[in-house]
Amino acid sequence: MAETKYIFVTGGVASSLGKGIISSSIGKLLQARGYSVTIQKFDPYINIDPGTLNPYEHGECYVTVDGHEADLDLGHYVRFLGIQTTKANNITTGRIYKSVIDKERHGDYLGKTIQVIPHITDEIKRNMKLLGSKYGFDFVITEIGGTVGDIESLPYLESIRQMKWELGKNAVCVHLTYVPYLAAAGELKTKPTQHSVKELQAAGIQPDVLVLRTEHELSANLKKKVALFCNVDEKAVVQSEDVSSIYEVPIKMQEQNLDGVILQKMGLPVGETPKLESWRNFLERRRKAKSSVKIGLVGKYDLQDAYKSILEAISQAATYNDRKADIHFINSELLTEENVEQELKEMNGVIICPGFGQRGIEGKFVALKYCRTHDVPTLGICLGMQCMAIEFARNVLGLADANSKEMNEKTPYNIIDIMEEQKSITNMGGTMRLGAYECLIQPGTKAFSAYGKEHIQERHRHRYEFNNEYINAFEKAGMKCSGTNPETGLVEVIEIPALKWFVGVQFHPEYSSTVITPHPLFLSFIKASLT
Ligand code: GLN
Repeated sequence: MAETKYIFVTGGVASSLGKGIISSSIGKLLQARGYSVTIQKFDPYINIDPGTLNPYEHGECYVTVDGHEADLDLGHYVRFLGIQTTKANNITTGRIYKSVIDKERHGDYLGKTIQVIPHITDEIKRNMKLLGSKYGFDFVITEIGGTVGDIESLPYLESIRQMKWELGKNAVCVHLTYVPYLAAAGELKTKPTQHSVKELQAAGIQPDVLVLRTEHELSANLKKKVALFCNVDEKAVVQSEDVSSIYEVPIKMQEQNLDGVILQKMGLPVGETPKLESWRNFLERRRKAKSSVKIGLVGKYDLQDAYKSILEAISQAATYNDRKADIHFINSELLTEENVEQELKEMNGVIICPGFGQRGIEGKFVALKYCRTHDVPTLGICLGMQCMAIEFARNVLGLADANSKEMNEKTPYNIIDIMEEQKSITNMGGTMRLGAYECLIQPGTKAFSAYGKEHIQERHRHRYEFNNEYINAFEKAGMKCSGTNPETGLVEVIEIPALKWFVGVQFHPEYSSTVITPHPLFLSFIKASLT
């Protein structure tokens, strides 16, 4: 395609309606038609990136291959489309302002007064077009965080208005709203949607497509009414009803011809509807799976979004093992020697989650000791792997106060230590060991049988590392180092060969698991949990 087409996805009425899933579904459907597609998210907050945000504020932090700490919606884009995302796929207001202010200090504006319009909006537009102009994608889908009507969204809306004006048919706006059901009146209400569209129109944007989130089927009449009141074609009003799995959404959107409508609006041929075979096979396998695999997730954040990519990776791997994923969150802060058996005895497998800081750490050791001594298949991720090493040092090597320097600066046995280059860092944002690094896997190990190859690359997000001074003692006592960074010698994977499946990884495999290509480590972990 000669010119890149831009699709903007905005949201109204309420947050958490699933703009990320709708954006991903549109992307999936266009990709299935042979177009090259990427998706980017613009977040209207002042933080430079979500790296420093507490997971309670903002859910998980997704890490891209190039080491950017990004919004969790990027995880959805990757899981749905199997694309690679980078720093350019997630922009915040903080980054926009920083770049404008840096240019101002540099003297680039030649004495002009710097204003939201045009300087901030120009910088937003430049970023909105960046991926399209640099890589020539057929479609760039831009999701705008927050809801229409928020003060901080205004510069983004103005930028969309201008882009639509400049690009004509090459830009469309898809607006996602909510149609509440008032139980007392027994009615679905369209007024919030009408107001939200009015808000967009006040910003000069006429939405081309409306996606209505609803818990109940919407009648043709209701959609007709919304179309009429909002100046939108009737066939461009689609519903997004609650479904059992987010992965059903592209199918539901395709049934209502959402992609066809978008193509028509952009003056492109609609042609045949793609079959989405591998996607449908995945869904079919998921529906057919009768028995389940019980996985205990030991972590401290009592919030689903904090472990989003891990949850999805488990669920994908369970599907490919023909099982339903039955995931139990186990709060590590509440886990003790007294209740651990009660909490874990039913689990087929256990994952020890990533994390930061002291809170809830002792519970992770308790869980690990139980799993190790009862041969429960266990996967430790990042901090989870570090805890695996510490528990082993304390209870097998007899190094009672073994710890990570992160938790106890004065530990006599610094099994996990800070990297030399991290010691002088005082700036917390974007300064961890981030992004994809090489790892060499040793043949004949559990890790090798999972990956089926020696050279892998996985993403990192941490400051602390396994202390190589302890490798010999660990290996002698039965914990093997099965993966290392070939350049630095840093330990990447540890495992206990004598156990059924007890593997810890310093990296985050969950970020690269997708619907069509589930992650080998999760597949192997779930498989082991079934035996
Ligand atoms: N807190 C640990 C570190 O910084 C682990 C981080 C993580 O689990 N992502 O090394």
